[in-house]
Amino acid sequence: MFVKNLSLQHFRNYDELTLDSFGSVNLMIGRNAQGKTNLLEAIFVLALTKSHRTSKDKELIGFQQNAAQLAAEVDKKYGAVNLELRLSSQGKKAKINGLEQRKLSDFIGALNVVMFAPEDLEIVKGTPGIRRRFLDMEIGQVTPSYLYHLQQYQKVLIQRNNMLKQSWGGGSDMTTMLEIWNEQLAEHGVKIIKKRKQFIRKLQKWASDIHQGITNGTERLELIYLPSFGEAEEEDEAVLLRQFMIKLSQMKDQEIRRGMTLAGPHRDDLAFYINGKEAQVYGSQGQQRTTALSLKLAEIELIHEEIGEYPVLLLDDVLSELDPYRQTQLIETFQSKVQTFITATGIETINAGKLKDASIYHVQEGQ
Ligand code: ATP
Ligand code: MG
Repeated sequence: MFVKNLSLQHFRNYDELTLDSFGSVNLMIGRNAQGKTNLLEAIFVLALTKSHRTSKDKELIGFQQNAAQLAAEVDKKYGAVNLELRLSSQGKKAKINGLEQRKLSDFIGALNVVMFAPEDLEIVKGTPGIRRRFLDMEIGQVTPSYLYHLQQYQKVLIQRNNMLKQSWGGGSDMTTMLEIWNEQLAEHGVKIIKKRKQFIRKLQKWASDIHQGITNGTERLELIYLPSFGEAEEEDEAVLLRQFMIKLSQMKDQEIRRGMTLAGPHRDDLAFYINGKEAQVYGSQGQQRTTALSLKLAEIELIHEEIGEYPVLLLDDVLSELDPYRQTQLIETFQSKVQTFITATGIETINAGKLKDASIYHVQEGQ
Protein backbone atom coordinates (compact mmCIF):
# COMPACT_ATOMS: atom_id res chain seq x y z
CA MET A 1 0.00 0.00 0.00
CA PHE A 2 1.28 3.42 -0.85
CA VAL A 3 -0.13 6.79 0.18
CA LYS A 4 0.44 9.07 -2.82
CA ASN A 5 -0.79 12.34 -1.41
CA LEU A 6 -2.63 13.90 1.49
CA SER A 7 -4.80 16.94 1.87
CA LEU A 8 -6.11 18.36 5.10
CA GLN A 9 -8.52 21.08 5.98
CA HIS A 10 -9.05 22.33 9.53
CA PHE A 11 -7.40 19.25 10.94
CA ARG A 12 -5.59 20.00 14.25
CA ASN A 13 -3.17 22.89 13.53
CA TYR A 14 -3.42 22.45 9.73
CA ASP A 15 -5.71 25.01 8.19
CA GLU A 16 -5.13 23.97 4.58
CA LEU A 17 -2.47 21.53 3.51
CA THR A 18 -1.78 19.57 0.36
CA LEU A 19 1.18 17.25 0.11
CA ASP A 20 1.78 15.61 -3.25
CA SER A 21 3.95 12.74 -4.35
CA PHE A 22 5.10 11.10 -1.16
CA GLY A 23 8.13 8.86 -1.38
CA SER A 24 8.62 5.43 0.09
CA VAL A 25 10.43 6.98 3.04
CA ASN A 26 9.17 10.34 4.27
CA LEU A 27 10.86 12.31 7.01
CA MET A 28 8.87 14.96 8.84
CA ILE A 29 11.36 17.25 10.51
CA GLY A 30 10.50 20.13 12.83
CA ARG A 31 10.77 21.55 16.31
CA ASN A 32 8.36 20.62 19.08
CA ALA A 33 4.67 21.47 18.72
CA GLN A 34 4.82 22.25 14.98
CA GLY A 35 2.50 19.52 13.68
CA LYS A 36 4.65 16.45 12.97
CA THR A 37 2.59 14.01 15.01
CA ASN A 38 -0.58 15.64 13.68
CA LEU A 39 0.44 14.61 10.16
CA LEU A 40 0.99 10.97 11.12
CA GLU A 41 -2.23 11.09 13.09
CA ALA A 42 -4.07 12.30 9.97
CA ILE A 43 -2.91 9.23 8.03
CA PHE A 44 -3.89 7.02 10.96
CA VAL A 45 -7.35 8.60 11.11
CA LEU A 46 -7.85 8.01 7.38
CA ALA A 47 -7.13 4.33 8.00
CA LEU A 48 -9.16 3.71 11.15
CA THR A 49 -11.54 6.74 11.31
CA LYS A 50 -10.23 7.42 14.81
CA SER A 51 -7.08 8.73 16.39
CA HIS A 52 -4.39 6.70 18.12
CA ARG A 53 -4.15 9.28 20.89
CA THR A 54 -7.66 10.46 21.63
CA SER A 55 -11.16 9.06 21.49
CA LYS A 56 -12.64 12.56 21.18
CA ASP A 57 -13.00 13.55 17.52
CA LYS A 58 -13.64 17.13 18.58
CA GLU A 59 -9.96 17.47 19.48
CA LEU A 60 -9.04 16.69 15.87
CA ILE A 61 -11.00 19.60 14.45
CA GLY A 62 -9.10 22.90 14.24
CA PHE A 63 -9.79 25.38 17.03
CA GLN A 64 -12.80 27.58 16.15
CA GLN A 65 -13.76 25.30 13.24
CA ASN A 66 -16.84 23.12 12.80
CA ALA A 67 -15.47 20.34 10.69
CA ALA A 68 -12.23 18.76 9.50
CA GLN A 69 -11.67 17.17 6.11
CA LEU A 70 -9.04 14.61 5.27
CA ALA A 71 -8.31 13.07 1.90
CA ALA A 72 -5.68 10.83 0.39
CA GLU A 73 -5.08 8.79 -2.69
CA VAL A 74 -3.76 5.31 -1.95
CA ASP A 75 -2.15 2.95 -4.43
CA LYS A 76 -3.08 -0.65 -3.77
CA LYS A 77 -2.34 -3.93 -5.44
CA TYR A 78 -5.58 -3.78 -7.44
CA GLY A 79 -5.55 -0.06 -8.29
CA ALA A 80 -5.77 3.34 -6.67
CA VAL A 81 -8.48 4.44 -4.24
CA ASN A 82 -9.50 7.90 -3.16
CA LEU A 83 -10.32 8.19 0.51
CA GLU A 84 -12.19 11.11 2.03
CA LEU A 85 -13.22 11.60 5.62
CA ARG A 86 -15.14 14.45 7.15
CA LEU A 87 -15.28 14.91 10.91
CA SER A 88 -17.78 17.22 12.52
CA SER A 89 -19.87 17.50 15.66
CA GLN A 90 -22.63 15.73 13.70
CA GLY A 91 -20.42 12.70 13.21
CA LYS A 92 -18.28 11.23 10.46
CA LYS A 93 -18.79 10.86 6.74
CA ALA A 94 -16.53 8.61 4.73
CA LYS A 95 -16.19 8.25 0.98
CA ILE A 96 -14.30 5.81 -1.17
CA ASN A 97 -13.81 6.97 -4.77
CA GLY A 98 -16.48 9.60 -4.20
CA LEU A 99 -19.06 7.11 -2.96
CA GLU A 100 -20.33 7.67 0.54
CA GLN A 101 -20.00 4.55 2.70
CA ARG A 102 -23.09 3.58 4.63
CA LYS A 103 -21.10 2.09 7.48
CA LEU A 104 -17.72 3.28 8.72
CA SER A 105 -16.69 -0.35 8.95
CA ASP A 106 -16.89 -0.48 5.14
CA PHE A 107 -14.33 2.31 5.03
CA ILE A 108 -11.93 0.94 7.65
CA GLY A 109 -9.36 -1.32 6.07
CA ALA A 110 -9.20 0.47 2.71
CA LEU A 111 -5.94 1.82 4.10
CA ASN A 112 -3.95 -0.23 6.61
CA VAL A 113 -1.41 1.35 8.90
CA VAL A 114 0.84 0.36 11.75
CA MET A 115 1.76 3.21 14.08
CA PHE A 116 4.65 3.11 16.47
CA ALA A 117 4.69 5.97 18.97
CA PRO A 118 6.45 6.56 22.31
CA GLU A 119 3.34 5.43 24.24
CA ASP A 120 3.79 1.93 22.84
CA LEU A 121 6.59 1.34 25.31
CA GLU A 122 3.75 0.79 27.78
CA ILE A 123 2.89 -2.48 26.03
CA VAL A 124 6.06 -3.84 27.61
CA LYS A 125 6.28 -1.68 30.75
CA GLY A 126 2.66 -1.04 31.61
CA THR A 127 -0.20 -2.90 33.23
CA PRO A 128 -1.82 -6.11 31.89
CA GLY A 129 -4.81 -4.02 30.74
CA ILE A 130 -2.59 -2.21 28.22
CA ARG A 131 -1.35 -5.51 26.81
CA ARG A 132 -4.91 -6.84 26.52
CA ARG A 133 -5.89 -3.63 24.69
CA PHE A 134 -2.96 -4.12 22.31
CA LEU A 135 -4.11 -7.69 21.60
CA ASP A 136 -7.73 -6.63 21.14
CA MET A 137 -6.93 -3.76 18.77
CA GLU A 138 -4.56 -5.76 16.62
CA ILE A 139 -6.69 -8.87 16.38
CA GLY A 140 -9.79 -6.75 15.78
CA GLN A 141 -8.13 -4.95 12.85
CA VAL A 142 -8.00 -8.16 10.83
CA THR A 143 -10.77 -10.26 12.44
CA PRO A 144 -14.11 -8.45 12.82
CA SER A 145 -15.78 -11.48 14.49
CA TYR A 146 -13.31 -11.13 17.36
CA LEU A 147 -14.74 -7.70 18.17
CA TYR A 148 -18.23 -9.16 18.29
CA HIS A 149 -17.27 -11.82 20.85
CA LEU A 150 -15.36 -9.23 22.84
CA GLN A 151 -18.43 -6.98 23.08
CA GLN A 152 -20.68 -9.85 24.08
CA TYR A 153 -18.18 -11.05 26.67
CA GLN A 154 -17.96 -7.57 28.23
CA LYS A 155 -21.75 -7.40 28.49
CA VAL A 156 -22.03 -10.76 30.22
CA LEU A 157 -19.10 -9.92 32.47
CA ILE A 158 -20.72 -6.69 33.69
CA GLN A 159 -24.00 -8.45 34.46
CA ARG A 160 -22.28 -11.37 36.16
CA ASN A 161 -20.16 -8.99 38.27
CA ASN A 162 -23.24 -6.98 39.26
CA MET A 163 -24.92 -10.12 40.47
CA LEU A 164 -21.84 -11.19 42.43
CA LYS A 165 -21.62 -7.72 44.00
CA GLN A 166 -25.24 -7.77 45.12
CA SER A 167 -24.21 -10.72 47.33
CA TRP A 168 -27.37 -12.71 47.61
CA GLY A 169 -25.62 -14.81 50.20
CA GLY A 170 -25.03 -17.58 47.74
CA GLY A 171 -28.50 -19.11 47.94
CA SER A 172 -29.83 -21.59 45.42
CA ASP A 173 -31.24 -18.79 43.22
CA MET A 174 -27.76 -17.41 42.90
CA THR A 175 -26.27 -20.79 41.98
CA THR A 176 -28.77 -21.23 39.14
CA MET A 177 -28.19 -17.72 37.86
CA LEU A 178 -24.44 -18.13 38.03
CA GLU A 179 -24.64 -21.29 35.97
CA ILE A 180 -26.53 -19.45 33.24
CA TRP A 181 -24.02 -16.61 33.19
CA ASN A 182 -21.12 -19.08 33.26
CA GLU A 183 -22.27 -20.70 30.06
CA GLN A 184 -22.52 -17.39 28.22
CA LEU A 185 -19.28 -16.13 29.64
CA ALA A 186 -17.47 -19.28 28.57
CA GLU A 187 -19.06 -19.36 25.11
CA HIS A 188 -17.63 -15.95 24.13
CA GLY A 189 -14.58 -16.20 26.38
CA VAL A 190 -13.32 -19.32 24.66
CA LYS A 191 -13.50 -17.68 21.22
CA ILE A 192 -11.47 -14.74 22.51
CA ILE A 193 -8.87 -16.94 24.18
CA LYS A 194 -8.47 -19.11 21.11
CA LYS A 195 -7.93 -16.11 18.81
CA ARG A 196 -5.47 -14.55 21.21
CA LYS A 197 -3.47 -17.77 21.36
CA GLN A 198 -3.36 -18.07 17.57
CA PHE A 199 -2.39 -14.41 17.21
CA ILE A 200 0.39 -14.62 19.81
CA ARG A 201 1.74 -17.79 18.22
CA LYS A 202 2.02 -16.06 14.83
CA LEU A 203 3.26 -12.80 16.32
CA GLN A 204 5.95 -14.67 18.30
CA LYS A 205 7.34 -16.20 15.11
CA TRP A 206 7.74 -12.85 13.36
CA ALA A 207 8.65 -10.76 16.39
CA SER A 208 11.51 -13.01 17.46
CA ASP A 209 13.03 -13.05 13.94
CA ILE A 210 12.74 -9.27 13.63
CA HIS A 211 14.12 -8.73 17.12
CA GLN A 212 17.13 -10.91 16.34
CA GLY A 213 17.74 -8.87 13.20
CA ILE A 214 17.55 -5.52 14.96
CA THR A 215 19.89 -6.69 17.76
CA ASN A 216 22.39 -8.42 15.49
CA GLY A 217 21.44 -11.80 16.87
CA THR A 218 22.34 -10.91 20.45
CA GLU A 219 18.80 -10.97 21.82
CA ARG A 220 16.28 -13.76 21.73
CA LEU A 221 12.73 -12.46 22.24
CA GLU A 222 9.95 -14.74 23.47
CA LEU A 223 6.26 -13.96 23.88
CA ILE A 224 4.45 -15.91 26.53
CA TYR A 225 0.70 -15.93 26.88
CA LEU A 226 -0.41 -16.03 30.51
CA PRO A 227 -3.99 -17.31 30.59
CA SER A 228 -6.08 -17.09 33.75
CA PHE A 229 -6.61 -20.87 33.52
CA GLY A 230 -5.20 -23.87 31.66
CA GLU A 231 -2.02 -24.10 29.62
CA ALA A 232 -0.92 -21.48 27.08
CA GLU A 233 -0.63 -24.07 24.26
CA GLU A 234 -4.17 -25.45 24.41
CA GLU A 235 -6.23 -24.22 21.45
CA ASP A 236 -9.01 -26.80 21.24
CA GLU A 237 -12.31 -25.01 21.89
CA ALA A 238 -14.03 -27.96 23.55
CA VAL A 239 -11.12 -28.46 25.95
CA LEU A 240 -10.94 -24.73 26.69
CA LEU A 241 -14.66 -24.62 27.38
CA ARG A 242 -14.44 -27.52 29.83
CA GLN A 243 -11.42 -25.97 31.57
CA PHE A 244 -13.15 -22.60 31.84
CA MET A 245 -16.29 -24.11 33.40
CA ILE A 246 -14.23 -26.15 35.89
CA LYS A 247 -12.21 -23.07 36.83
CA LEU A 248 -15.38 -21.03 37.39
CA SER A 249 -16.87 -23.68 39.65
CA GLN A 250 -13.61 -23.88 41.63
CA MET A 251 -13.59 -20.11 42.06
CA LYS A 252 -17.25 -19.81 43.00
CA ASP A 253 -16.87 -19.21 46.75
CA GLN A 254 -14.03 -16.80 46.29
CA GLU A 255 -15.95 -14.90 43.59
CA ILE A 256 -18.98 -14.51 45.85
CA ARG A 257 -16.74 -13.33 48.69
CA ARG A 258 -14.94 -10.78 46.51
CA GLY A 259 -17.92 -9.84 44.35
CA MET A 260 -16.23 -10.21 40.97
CA THR A 261 -15.38 -12.62 38.19
CA LEU A 262 -11.89 -13.99 38.77
CA ALA A 263 -11.19 -16.09 35.68
CA GLY A 264 -11.46 -15.46 31.95
CA PRO A 265 -9.82 -13.47 29.16
CA HIS A 266 -10.32 -10.19 31.07
CA ARG A 267 -7.58 -11.47 33.39
CA ASP A 268 -5.16 -12.71 30.72
CA ASP A 269 -1.71 -11.29 30.33
CA LEU A 270 1.23 -11.51 28.01
CA ALA A 271 4.91 -11.59 29.05
CA PHE A 272 8.04 -10.77 27.05
CA TYR A 273 11.34 -12.47 27.71
CA ILE A 274 14.73 -11.38 26.37
CA ASN A 275 17.33 -14.12 26.59
CA GLY A 276 15.20 -15.84 29.20
CA LYS A 277 14.73 -12.77 31.43
CA GLU A 278 11.45 -10.91 31.75
CA ALA A 279 11.77 -7.64 29.80
CA GLN A 280 9.30 -5.75 32.00
CA VAL A 281 11.45 -6.41 35.07
CA TYR A 282 15.03 -6.67 33.80
CA GLY A 283 15.01 -4.97 30.38
CA SER A 284 16.81 -1.67 29.80
CA GLN A 285 14.83 1.22 28.35
CA GLY A 286 16.35 0.51 24.92
CA GLN A 287 15.58 -3.21 25.16
CA GLN A 288 11.99 -2.50 26.14
CA ARG A 289 11.65 -0.05 23.28
CA THR A 290 13.15 -2.54 20.83
CA THR A 291 10.73 -5.20 22.10
CA ALA A 292 7.73 -2.94 21.50
CA LEU A 293 9.12 -2.07 18.08
CA SER A 294 9.64 -5.74 17.17
CA LEU A 295 5.99 -6.38 18.05
CA LYS A 296 4.81 -3.55 15.80
CA LEU A 297 7.02 -4.66 12.94
CA ALA A 298 5.77 -8.22 13.39
CA GLU A 299 2.28 -6.84 12.98
CA ILE A 300 3.29 -5.51 9.57
CA GLU A 301 4.13 -9.06 8.52
CA LEU A 302 0.90 -10.42 10.03
CA ILE A 303 -1.21 -7.90 8.14
CA HIS A 304 0.70 -8.80 4.98
CA GLU A 305 -0.04 -12.50 5.60
CA GLU A 306 -3.69 -11.71 6.18
CA ILE A 307 -4.46 -9.31 3.33
CA GLY A 308 -1.61 -9.92 0.87
CA GLU A 309 -0.36 -6.36 1.03
CA TYR A 310 1.98 -4.41 3.32
CA PRO A 311 0.45 -1.68 5.49
CA VAL A 312 1.98 1.79 5.79
CA LEU A 313 4.34 2.29 8.73
CA LEU A 314 4.13 5.41 10.89
CA LEU A 315 7.08 5.99 13.23
CA ASP A 316 6.51 8.88 15.60
CA ASP A 317 9.59 10.08 17.50
CA VAL A 318 10.99 6.60 17.93
CA LEU A 319 13.92 6.33 15.59
CA SER A 320 16.04 8.86 17.47
CA GLU A 321 15.62 6.79 20.64
CA LEU A 322 17.44 3.80 19.17
CA ASP A 323 21.21 3.50 18.89
CA PRO A 324 22.65 3.89 15.36
CA TYR A 325 23.03 0.14 14.85
CA ARG A 326 19.40 -0.58 15.78
CA GLN A 327 18.26 2.32 13.59
CA THR A 328 20.15 0.97 10.59
CA GLN A 329 18.77 -2.53 11.08
CA LEU A 330 15.27 -1.17 11.40
CA ILE A 331 15.56 0.95 8.27
CA GLU A 332 16.96 -1.94 6.28
CA THR A 333 14.15 -4.22 7.42
CA PHE A 334 11.40 -2.02 6.03
CA GLN A 335 13.09 0.17 3.42
CA SER A 336 12.39 -1.89 0.33
CA LYS A 337 8.84 -3.05 1.02
CA VAL A 338 6.94 -0.75 3.37
CA GLN A 339 6.12 2.91 2.82
CA THR A 340 7.18 4.77 5.94
CA PHE A 341 6.53 8.13 7.56
CA ILE A 342 9.01 9.17 10.23
CA THR A 343 9.01 12.19 12.53
CA ALA A 344 12.06 13.68 14.23
CA THR A 345 13.03 17.02 15.73
CA GLY A 346 16.21 17.23 13.67
CA ILE A 347 17.76 15.39 10.79
CA GLU A 348 20.93 14.94 12.86
CA THR A 349 19.03 12.87 15.44
CA ILE A 350 18.49 10.04 13.00
CA ASN A 351 20.78 7.93 10.93
CA ALA A 352 19.53 9.62 7.78
CA GLY A 353 22.49 8.54 5.68
CA LYS A 354 20.91 5.10 5.60
CA LEU A 355 17.60 6.43 4.38
CA LYS A 356 18.23 6.33 0.67
CA ASP A 357 16.11 8.73 -1.35
CA ALA A 358 14.07 9.86 1.63
CA SER A 359 11.67 12.72 0.97
CA ILE A 360 12.18 15.39 3.60
CA TYR A 361 9.42 17.70 4.82
CA HIS A 362 10.08 20.63 7.11
CA VAL A 363 7.14 21.15 9.44
CA GLN A 364 6.59 24.58 10.91
CA GLU A 365 3.44 25.96 12.57
CA GLY A 366 1.06 23.78 10.65
CA GLN A 367 2.71 24.27 7.28
P1 ATP B 1 6.63 17.24 19.31
O1 ATP B 1 7.97 17.28 18.66
O2 ATP B 1 6.63 18.00 20.59
O3 ATP B 1 6.03 15.90 19.40
P2 ATP B 1 4.84 17.82 17.08
O4 ATP B 1 5.41 18.58 15.94
O5 ATP B 1 4.66 16.36 16.93
O6 ATP B 1 5.68 18.15 18.38
P3 ATP B 1 1.99 17.99 17.16
O7 ATP B 1 1.54 17.14 18.28
O8 ATP B 1 1.88 17.44 15.79
O9 ATP B 1 3.47 18.49 17.47
O10 ATP B 1 1.21 19.37 17.13
C1 ATP B 1 1.03 20.06 18.28
C2 ATP B 1 0.41 21.39 17.99
O11 ATP B 1 -0.88 21.27 17.42
C3 ATP B 1 0.28 22.13 19.31
O12 ATP B 1 0.83 23.39 19.18
C4 ATP B 1 -1.20 22.18 19.53
O13 ATP B 1 -1.61 23.35 20.19
C5 ATP B 1 -1.76 22.12 18.13
N1 ATP B 1 -3.12 21.54 18.11
C6 ATP B 1 -3.53 20.40 18.66
N2 ATP B 1 -4.84 20.20 18.46
C7 ATP B 1 -5.26 21.27 17.76
C8 ATP B 1 -6.53 21.67 17.24
N3 ATP B 1 -7.63 20.91 17.41
N4 ATP B 1 -6.60 22.83 16.55
C9 ATP B 1 -5.49 23.60 16.37
N5 ATP B 1 -4.29 23.29 16.85
C10 ATP B 1 -4.16 22.13 17.53
MG1 MG C 1 5.03 14.76 18.18
